[in-house]
Amino acid sequence: ETITIQELANRMAERAVDVIRLLMKQGEMKKINDVIDADTAQLIAEEMGHTVRRVAESDVEEGLFDAADEEGAAVPRPPVVTIMGHVDHGKTSLLDAIRQTNVVSGEAGGITQHIGAYQVKTPAGSLVTFIDTPGHEAFTAMRQRGAKATDIVVLVVAADDGVMPQTAEAINHAKAAGVPIIVAINKIDKQGAKPERVRTELLQHELQVESLGGEILEVEVSATKKLNLDKLLELIALQAELLDLKANPDRPAEGIVIEAKLDKGRGPVATVLVQRGTLKGGDIVVAGSEWGRVRALIDDQGKAVSEAGPSLPVEILGFQGAPEAGDRLAVVENEARAREVTEYRQRQRRDLAAARSGRGGGGSIEQMMSNLKTAAGRQEFPLVIKGDVQGSVEAIIQALAKLGNDEVAARVLHAGVGGITESDITLASASGAAVLGFNVRALKEAREAGDRTGTEIRYYNIIYDLVDDIRKAMSGLLAPER
Ligand code: GDP
Repeated sequence: ETITIQELANRMAERAVDVIRLLMKQGEMKKINDVIDADTAQLIAEEMGHTVRRVAESDVEEGLFDAADEEGAAVPRPPVVTIMGHVDHGKTSLLDAIRQTNVVSGEAGGITQHIGAYQVKTPAGSLVTFIDTPGHEAFTAMRQRGAKATDIVVLVVAADDGVMPQTAEAINHAKAAGVPIIVAINKIDKQGAKPERVRTELLQHELQVESLGGEILEVEVSATKKLNLDKLLELIALQAELLDLKANPDRPAEGIVIEAKLDKGRGPVATVLVQRGTLKGGDIVVAGSEWGRVRALIDDQGKAVSEAGPSLPVEILGFQGAPEAGDRLAVVENEARAREVTEYRQRQRRDLAAARSGRGGGGSIEQMMSNLKTAAGRQEFPLVIKGDVQGSVEAIIQALAKLGNDEVAARVLHAGVGGITESDITLASASGAAVLGFNVRALKEAREAGDRTGTEIRYYNIIYDLVDDIRKAMSGLLAPER
């Protein structure tokens, strides 16, 4: 466990320079953003006349989320699906069409509630849960918070329009999250529909559909004419079977907040997707820095239910305050524990905000290195690259590819032409990546998102400089200074 000098100073309400001076006296040369270990931090704090109560994350968060289910206790659970694709390709239409034709228990004309997710029945009788917010913003926002809500992505591509920029973005988001894709070629009812062209265009994004000899499941649909929707559900069920999705229903619930709001009449309302266990009325829950006692559970038909098992979306009434989408939910033993956890998290959030404003936002390349993902024993250096022209973007990717070796390599999550957008930042921060701009700048919203998430944005106008920086960062990794 470590802490930066800035954070330590903030917590003691002391000046960082005084902390640095004390460390210097002990023969340690440190800068404001350097980290020190917990023991050193304790020594410094005591020397400055503070009493130290060490509350490690492991103490407070201990046992909230169990690592594993008992052997044999897990049973199959429905898949959770997010629909992604380019704007106007029919994501919303498809979600509505599926819902209208397949609601689980809705009688004809029954009132459906939009609670952020819903469940439908496939022709074979199995269940599928759809996240009702299409697009990759919500998907990535959740990943950014360390939550994985989606098992399968349905990629909608309009047959009359083909693969467009947001189609490519969606593919990259799904791949970065390691979530399998099912391709739904939509609007096949339209004149000028060219499903074949969609298939070949997808090849350029390394998505090879079955009819072209690949393994990606695909289906031609029409959301407006309600064509092949059952086929799509069958494919989802098939993909789910391949994934062998399971969860143990006989344990305290864990889940993820899909949506939350402050309702005038009902108070804070959070829609939660239960991921393991069973949520029951009276349970004491924590999500992010909010907690509550479950007063009522409401399903997507607006009906009160007494409990909710794995993959079922339900609204929870009874929170003290509204949590945030992407917050993970857990059931705790009692109110005291709920308060301890949420108070600790609130404090942590304040500290983080203070530390960020202290260093003027953004992460450092050193932090970026510590964010490395390890895959197959190799350390990967995640990057998002934007450039002014395709030629230079490709030259950069090739040069970076040459830098890699068995131990460490750059991994380009997304590369494209144009200014750095907020969406680039969300993707980067969800994966702990840095964003590199070549002859392009970041849009205002992107800069703000960068500050907010602590994502580093670097600008270059010479390819050599860019590659050299990454090389240096990588060799720093191979031969750590300490
Ligand atoms: P989204 O932006 O991806 O959510 O797209 P929408 O669902 O809002 O659809 C955009 C437009 O395409 C709307 O005018 C829809 O009526 C139309 N649309 C969606 N699906 C189909 C389809 O299967 N066939 C036809 N002809 N039009 C469709």
